[in-house]
Amino acid sequence: MIETQPIDKTVLLHLAFKGLTERELQEMAALSHISMYPPEYTLCHEGAHEEVFYVIADGIATISKNISEQDGERILRIASKGDLVGEMALIQNVPRSATVRTLTNCTVLEMDKKSFETMLSRSPSMAINIIRTTLDRIRENDQIAIQDLQNTNKVLHHLDRNKLEFIQVAAHELRTPLTVLKGYVNVLSSFPEIKNNPVLGEVMDGIIKGADRMHEVVNTMLDVTRIDSETLKIRSAPVPLKGVITETAQIISKAAAERNIELIVEQDPNTPNINADPSLVQKALYHLIVNAIKYTPDGGKVTINSYPIIMDIDTPGVEISVKDTGIGLDAEHHELIFEKFYQVGEATVHSSGKTTFKGGGPGLGLAIVRGVARSHGGKTWVESLRHDETNFPGSTFYLQLPIDPPASSSK
Ligand code: ADP
Repeated sequence: MIETQPIDKTVLLHLAFKGLTERELQEMAALSHISMYPPEYTLCHEGAHEEVFYVIADGIATISKNISEQDGERILRIASKGDLVGEMALIQNVPRSATVRTLTNCTVLEMDKKSFETMLSRSPSMAINIIRTTLDRIRENDQIAIQDLQNTNKVLHHLDRNKLEFIQVAAHELRTPLTVLKGYVNVLSSFPEIKNNPVLGEVMDGIIKGADRMHEVVNTMLDVTRIDSETLKIRSAPVPLKGVITETAQIISKAAAERNIELIVEQDPNTPNINADPSLVQKALYHLIVNAIKYTPDGGKVTINSYPIIMDIDTPGVEISVKDTGIGLDAEHHELIFEKFYQVGEATVHSSGKTTFKGGGPGLGLAIVRGVARSHGGKTWVESLRHDETNFPGSTFYLQLPIDPPASSSK
């Protein structure tokens, strides 16, 4: 830092504080001093408690903010002659919200917190002036943030489309050889040499189970692309809901029994039939029940309930709840788990059966449930106190569907 010969501080201060009287400007000038800094010098450090503010007299400085570890710093504004920087931390007694760095040689007027406070208490017009500048700046920063969010949203939307296209291509590419593989395996397992050889029989069983699981994952991938597609129109037909729930539970009951999990279906006798896409409704129920089993330890309980409700805007509908005695979920994940590929904590890396306790999955089940709910004009959500693998507080997932889907979603 090099002290330079005095420049006209009052003229400079007038640029930054337009409403101040000549006397106030002179008082302020007397409490401040002029300094010069070389390029790349940091005047304000984001996050630091610093007690000086600056008015740029000559040169250019950047005001930047750390966005994230990956994205690094982002320049919010450029400050030049007459601009006030670093005053917010003095008013609020909070750490610096941004970094101010000289881009060229900079001459600045500096004032420390104590002198600044003396001035503020003496001059109401200066206080108002600073409030105005600060509000303008907040508004400006809001605009930048909104613009950023809009751009990010566009990029995310685009990436999401690409991701869906990739899933679709990958799933189609996998499905054909998988079908061929399953065909050959079926032929092979009927050979007497294999049928009568317990070791080879077990090996074949393993291959069949693996291929079936892969088939299921590939189908889930295709379901998610279909359901997530913006053009999805559901094929609405009468759905005997009570029967569909019982049937879906039946399909999964063997897996539940293997893990000693009690699967209870409790249905209000007044559970209405609905008009919906039967295969989509069954898929949603399937994923909810499979998850309930997967995230519940052996010996637990899963209860499925259904009852009539009145949805928002007086629409008659039905609510299905799937309650488990499993590991539960912290509130911060309650929304995010419905996103494609979102999994809580570290994804399980080992391949496991679809109902193994905490077995790894593709992270698509709940995205399908949400897609089904939305495409029918319904909704889905979870209630759970917390994640706790000692006391198992459990979770309850809800699926609400209207008796008649909105006209726009069916064909
Ligand atoms: P996957 O089960 O294949 O990981 P899902 O989309 O079905 O994917 O679920 C997303 C995440 O939500 C899971 O990884 C799990 O962390 C959490 N989750 C889903 N259902 C339950 C449940 N019944 N209890 C606790 N956590 C659950």
